[in-house]
Parts: sequence; C-alpha cells; structure tokens
Amino acid sequence: MTVKENLKTINESLAARTGSSRPTVIAVTKYVTIDRAKEALNAGVTHFGENRVEGFLAKKEALPEGIFHFIGSLQTRKVKDVINSIDYLHSLDRWSLAEEIEKRADHPVKCFVQVNVSGEASKHGMAPEAVVPFVQSLKAFQQIEVVGLMTMAPFSDNEEELRSCFAALRTLKDEVADLKQSNAPCTELSMGMSNDYLIAAEEGATFIRIGTKLVG
Ligand SMILES: *Cc1c(COP(=O)(O)O)cnc(C)c1O
Repeated sequence: MTVKENLKTINESLAARTGSSRPTVIAVTKYVTIDRAKEALNAGVTHFGENRVEGFLAKKEALPEGIFHFIGSLQTRKVKDVINSIDYLHSLDRWSLAEEIEKRADHPVKCFVQVNVSGEASKHGMAPEAVVPFVQSLKAFQQIEVVGLMTMAPFSDNEEELRSCFAALRTLKDEVADLKQSNAPCTELSMGMSNDYLIAAEEGATFIRIGTKLVG
C-alpha cells in the first residue's frame, strides 16, 4: 500500500469516530527507509516520529521539512546530540533527564511526560502518582515546557482495558493542567498506535503515533 492510501484510510476512520476534533497523526518512521519517509512527506504527512538518536538524525537531515518528534526513551548522555533539533520530546520520565535538558537546551523544549499507566514492568514512564509532584518540581526550569502527557498502552486487544488506560491519562492530564503552572500548560495527549489509535482518539488523544499502519 502507498502511504497516501494508508493515510486516507486512517483519516477516514478518525473522521468517522471523532468528527472534527481529530488528533494530529505522527508518522513513526523508525522501521522504514528514508525513501519511504519522503513518500510520507509527499503524501502530506508533516509530523514525523523516531525513537532512536541515530535514526532521528538521519531522517531529520534527509527530509527538507517536517515537525520532528522524539518518541523513544532518551539516554541522558545523548541529550546534547538531539535536544536542539527536535520539536517535541515524548519521553520525559525522570529528574536526571530534565536536569540535562535544562543544561543543554538553547530554548524551551516542548515535552510530554511519559506515564506508565498500565504499570507493566516492561514499560518506560513514571508511575501515575509521581507525575504531579514531578511537574511541580520542574517549576524553576526555563528550558522545559510540559505540553502534555504520553503513554504506551498495554499490548492487548481488550478494548475496555485500553480505553481505561487512555481515560486515566486524560484525567491525569487535567490534574496537571489544573496546577496552572506557567511552564506546564499540559493540554496535549500523545496516545494511540497502529492497533489502538481509534480508541485513543475517542478518549481524547491530540497526537497519535502510527508506524505499521501508515508507513510499514
Ligand atoms: C514504534 C512506536 C510507535 C508506533 O508503533 P506502531 O504499532 O507501528 O504504530 C508509537 N509510539 C512509540 C513510542 C513507538 O516506539
């Protein structure tokens, strides 16, 4: 399938389920070649996601334009290699990472705090109850803007389980927004992948991250 055909299918399914409040689609290009990423750009995709530093830098250099999301876990020692080239970081999940961003960034970086809603040991992200105190502790950081929260749902085809995971992230997002902290507007929700994006969209996702079903 061409990216264009896949994008049309995704957009139509989103329109049917969510009407006008459609989330922004991030094309996750981590599995694919630069040519396939360029095909996505030509098909009208403007947001790109990569989960590794090397892949990110290669795609960013090869694509003439685009909004770039770093969606993988970021090692502290690699912050300096990418932090000033990304548009969004989806994986802020610890204090040491925040400190390194504060030190290396030359502008406020749009960050999502990654939350392990499902509590699976294999998943990255903070425990839900740690999120509010963590965001409060970032109050004095000049170079971090908490734009929203991100999660990866459990690998499951149980719709109710997925839905409750996404709904919990939305509730937590509202709690953070209610802090009214100037560097934490927390209006965005990054949730939903190829297998669960429609459920995530129904639960209020503003960014969905799609690899396999869009460019795979
Ligand atoms: C790979 C990846 C995705 C996309 O996964 P698909 O199931 O291929 O759509 C989304 N988010 C993150 C964080 C990823 O690592």
